[in-house]
Amino acid sequence: MKKIPNSPCIRCGTERVVSKIWEEKVDDSVIVNTELVCPDVECQKKVNIMNKKSSDKYAAIKSRSEQRAVDRKAALNARKSKKNSH
Ligand SMILES: [Zn+2]
Repeated sequence: MKKIPNSPCIRCGTERVVSKIWEEKVDDSVIVNTELVCPDVECQKKVNIMNKKSSDKYAAIKSRSEQRAVDRKAALNARKSKKNSH
């Protein structure tokens, strides 16, 4: 049997346990997914909240950098049109 790679809980460092194993068909092969959770239910709840917060933060950073790209383009166009008016 293949050993499931274990990683400790990011919050308390306790070795996590497998809560769910499911198979997923990808193209012609079946991959086995495992979900690891902290054995401490309350701790896992906090980890879930932390994960959600960090994904929200990631989305915010992403939209900010997209906005920056738009701003840069606008600034570039403004500079160009200034140059052309001379
Ligand atoms: Zn934990």
